[in-house]
Amino acid sequence: MSHISIHPEKASDKDAAIGVCPFGAIERDATGALFVGGGCRMCRMCVRRMPEVFEFVEDAEAAPAVDKNEWRGIAVVAEISPDGALHPVALELLGKARELAAARGEPVLALAIGGRTEAAVQEMLERGADEVHVYEDPELSEFRIEPYAAALSDFIREKKPSAVLVGGTPTGRSLAPRVAARFRAGLTADCTTLGMSPSGDLDQIRPAYGGNIMAHINTPRHRPQFATVRYKVFPIPPRERPHGAVVRHKPPRDGLASAISILESRPKPAVKGIEDAEAIVVCGRGLRRPEDLPMLRELADALGARLAGTRAVVEAGWLPASCQIGLSGRTVKPKLIVTCGVSGAIQFVSGMNGSGTIVAVNTDKDAPIFSVAHIGIVGDIYEVVPALVAAVKAKKEAAK
Ligand SMILES: Cc1cc2nc3c(=O)[nH]c(=O)nc-3n(C[C@H](O)[C@H](O)[C@H](O)COP(=O)(O)OP(=O)(O)OC[C@H]3O[C@@H](n4cnc5c(N)ncnc54)[C@H](O)[C@@H]3O)c2cc1C
Ligand code: SF4
Repeated sequence: MSHISIHPEKASDKDAAIGVCPFGAIERDATGALFVGGGCRMCRMCVRRMPEVFEFVEDAEAAPAVDKNEWRGIAVVAEISPDGALHPVALELLGKARELAAARGEPVLALAIGGRTEAAVQEMLERGADEVHVYEDPELSEFRIEPYAAALSDFIREKKPSAVLVGGTPTGRSLAPRVAARFRAGLTADCTTLGMSPSGDLDQIRPAYGGNIMAHINTPRHRPQFATVRYKVFPIPPRERPHGAVVRHKPPRDGLASAISILESRPKPAVKGIEDAEAIVVCGRGLRRPEDLPMLRELADALGARLAGTRAVVEAGWLPASCQIGLSGRTVKPKLIVTCGVSGAIQFVSGMNGSGTIVAVNTDKDAPIFSVAHIGIVGDIYEVVPALVAAVKAKKEAAK
């Protein structure tokens, strides 16, 4: 494993050396000698600040192992339910895959694993897949990790895609890391942006350290590069005339075995989450008490919108966790979002900044939410919201 090595003879001032680490990972042992403890996050700040004392030592095994030229194409793993329905996150990923693949002149590969894949295959061809690789078998009808991982691994061995994009759904979050570990490739979870560097490495961007920074993660020595992306982060590309090919694979026979038996499956009643709402009114801590929520509900009703909240109000128990927008909540992309008394912390904004029109109401003209809002109203929600409700109702009345 790569590690930080210390040259103690060069550390004339041990306290200064301890102080360079922002995570307190440089410690003294019983003899007073310096060592790097378990809190090291490999940020390499110590190496930058005291290069004579600290050295980043690369894992010998991590030396360039793959010939990148052997790995071509951006693959998207589709999630298909037993009735053949395709999870739309695959279409969103196809749009992004097309962009990334175009930058390298490589193909977009889609992977369909399931019991009934026909409709999903057609849909993916219409959204720009150059090749759709199909593993269809009754044994693959329901998601079970072992056969799905076997099919995905088989596909990777055969096609050698440069990158594999998987939806950040419960299924994708189970499948992607297991297969990434098999290929000793690593994985970047919940990317919010993906780009392509000239060298063909995927620029995997995601919030880190509580959303305070956007980390760019590159895996230049390994292939494939695995990334998961949550639903509603990228737009679905428009339909086009299909031009791609369908390649059918025989699921690996020994790979279909599973220790999991599915005794019964019951469809969950379809509850529309805030992710599916076309308009959302957001309650922030600017609301003084939960008894005032009906004021915001009235605005939501007038706009035909769903009511959602920041983590602050969800943690206060004013709204359920399923209504929380942000880094540790849901990502939303409605046509209209009206934030009421929301400061606009990065952890909140990262879950809604792809929305169509962002209206923000806040008493503080310097609140960060105004930097992402298309329409900013500096004012008290207790005055502005009732006025908005009256205006929307009057407009509706006039349109009758
Ligand atoms: C790891 C991590 C993950 C997180 N994940 C999330 C997440 O998923 N979602 C999330 O929302 N947060 C998240 N947070 C918390 C986030 O940092 C903020 O604390 C939170 O978003 C603040 O919520 P708020 O805007 O409602 O409250 P505040 O930041 O307290 O803002 C209240 C705003 O209301 C304004 N205001 C006050 N009174 C009025 C009034 N009468 N009229 C109009 N405006 C008024 C104020 O000027 C202020 O700007 C996370 C934090 C961490 C560390
Ligand atoms: S790499 Fe970063 S976390 Fe590790 S010892 Fe150096 S400064 Fe501390």
